[in-house]
Amino acid sequence: MLRSTAAMLLLAALELSGCKSAPPVRPAGGEAPMGPAAQAGPLKQELLAKYGDSQRERIERGVDQVVSLWRPTDGDAGEYIRAHFIADPLLLDATFVRLEATFEQLDGHFLEIGRELRRPSDVDVGPLLPVDRLMAGLDASAHLTEDLFQSKIAFEVLLNFPLTSLQERLSRGAGYSRRQWAEIRLANRFSRRIPPEVQQQIAKSASDAELYIAQYNIWMHHLLVGGERLFPRGLRLISHWNLRDELKADYADPRGPDKQAQILRVMERIVTQTIPAAVIDNPRLDWDPGANSVIAAPAGEVEEEVPNRDDKARAAPEPNTRYAKLLSNFQAAKKADPYSPIAPTEIARSFEGREIPEERVVALLTEILTSPLVPKVAALIEKRLGRSLRVQDLWYNGFQPRSKHPENELDAITRKRYPNREAFAKDIPRILQKLGFTKQQADFVASHVVVDPSRGAGHALQAARRGDFPHLRTRVEKDGMNYKGYNIAIHELGHNVEQVFSLYEVDHTLLAGVPNNAFTEALAFVFQARDLELLGLSKPDPAAERLRVLNDFWQTWEIAGVALVDIAVWHWMYDHPNAEPAELRDAVVQIAKEHWNKFYAPVLGGQDTVLLGIYSHMISYPLYLPDYPLGHLIAFQIEEQVKKAGALGPEFERMAKYGSVTPDVWMVNAAGSPVSAEPLLRATEKALSGGDEAPRPPKRQRG
Ligand SMILES: [Zn+2]
Repeated sequence: MLRSTAAMLLLAALELSGCKSAPPVRPAGGEAPMGPAAQAGPLKQELLAKYGDSQRERIERGVDQVVSLWRPTDGDAGEYIRAHFIADPLLLDATFVRLEATFEQLDGHFLEIGRELRRPSDVDVGPLLPVDRLMAGLDASAHLTEDLFQSKIAFEVLLNFPLTSLQERLSRGAGYSRRQWAEIRLANRFSRRIPPEVQQQIAKSASDAELYIAQYNIWMHHLLVGGERLFPRGLRLISHWNLRDELKADYADPRGPDKQAQILRVMERIVTQTIPAAVIDNPRLDWDPGANSVIAAPAGEVEEEVPNRDDKARAAPEPNTRYAKLLSNFQAAKKADPYSPIAPTEIARSFEGREIPEERVVALLTEILTSPLVPKVAALIEKRLGRSLRVQDLWYNGFQPRSKHPENELDAITRKRYPNREAFAKDIPRILQKLGFTKQQADFVASHVVVDPSRGAGHALQAARRGDFPHLRTRVEKDGMNYKGYNIAIHELGHNVEQVFSLYEVDHTLLAGVPNNAFTEALAFVFQARDLELLGLSKPDPAAERLRVLNDFWQTWEIAGVALVDIAVWHWMYDHPNAEPAELRDAVVQIAKEHWNKFYAPVLGGQDTVLLGIYSHMISYPLYLPDYPLGHLIAFQIEEQVKKAGALGPEFERMAKYGSVTPDVWMVNAAGSPVSAEPLLRATEKALSGGDEAPRPPKRQRG
């Protein structure tokens, strides 16, 4: 997960939701003869006469770009254009340099303000105060874009630097120079002019949803099945991340199948909102998710030092809060639609921002979901488990070397190594050198990452100006960092390393970052995949490599369906803009079932299960989920390249510092070919046909 501050939500809204990709907005209708649009023709003629034909293309484009977003309150467009069109290349160059430096400072400092406003919500600084929620909802930069328009800085950009359409960038991007790319990023920031109050509402509903999710914990010891407790005291799992990871870990547990069944019931209750509201994050109540009954927990079973919660045993279901939060995100996003004519829905903005069209993303995901390799991998899993597949095997992780190690063994190792977050921070240079970074690289990165204690499962927060540092937020329990926390921390560290290189070493700060979230996730996956190796538990051999491929394939297959559900739910909301939370709940349940029945039931059974609706991202990070399967595909391409090159460190740096260009251009630089599902599918096929060398189960699953 990559966390945005409120300021970054604005940037995300701009950068990831279409600003980078929208072509110039044409003046509507042209029915306002006195408006700036009517002045465009004569103005162009005037400038052409003054500057000559060599400037024709720049004049035509620049004037159109300005008049399309000019409002009557902005004053006289003609006067502005005459005074600010720049034909002199030296002046143009100096202006570009000045703007690049200025935007780095603006964005970087606003990001810092947002980070501080959200610090009490994101970082574990003690109990939340009522004011913290208000602060988390404040976006200090909400008015920035409008201010840049009103001060005419935005128009300076639009008059002198080119906006491009996604189509243009896709077809011509490979031939752009670095400076051209930087100019394109500069201009596209101003392709839309969304009113500040709309931006503010988007930020507010996003932070409300995030807070809701961040506190959605299940106290596992208080789950009853026929009066029995299957989970240890104190185990508090955040939905859905920890619940899913616990389910995965339970493959190595003697009581695994029972525990997994229990987790599935909890997940279904959350999706259908039949979960009793009172049991959420409440260690004072015992809950039987099967019977859906609630009783006060006996005093002896309540953990020490738990949050102060009501112990009144109420079974009333959660009142569709989950879907109210999602609807609120939708309604806020929808308000931006009229100001974004080129990408007039949140869905369109999401894919414009990725710079991969929705149809291509859906096609890539469907290619994985319907691959003839799915039943073959499923058959192998069946063989390894010694039973037919069940619903929970959606999250089968027996291809991972780590299931050789029971969770508690791993917990013991990580707790000892990392008793507190300082210990983890201190270990970063060693971790990086172990991954193949030079000592110099490792020290550089370690000195540019700040490690904070996280309230949630963990996240990485980038920096946006040189001089400021990316932050790694990690959750360390009182008795040390458990394995889940460690696994996430390594993932987040991958984000941080990318963030350091792509900010500090990119040639233009306007190009800082990577093409889209899928790329930063991919680079984080590369780190995460080596977590056990970093603990000294396993080193890669051909058998382990095959396992890794099969695991990657299975995970991609799993989350491809989840991503399609996310996309389908947004289409449903646009088709039913006045829906109530209960109607949205029914729709999500229906969409999740349909996708399950189409892609998963033939392999795993469990007709009509609703599990594909459990992901928390769907609620708190709208339309983020497609980035995960894309991330897997991209990670695979990157992994292949790293293997070819022989070392992770230098390759990671070379790729990350290339910056934010279109995905295919980035990938051609990184791995020699455009984004594709082929490398993963080919390797999966190869892993399956490993013949005698095919991996055997390390040992029979107990229980
Ligand atoms: Zn991530």
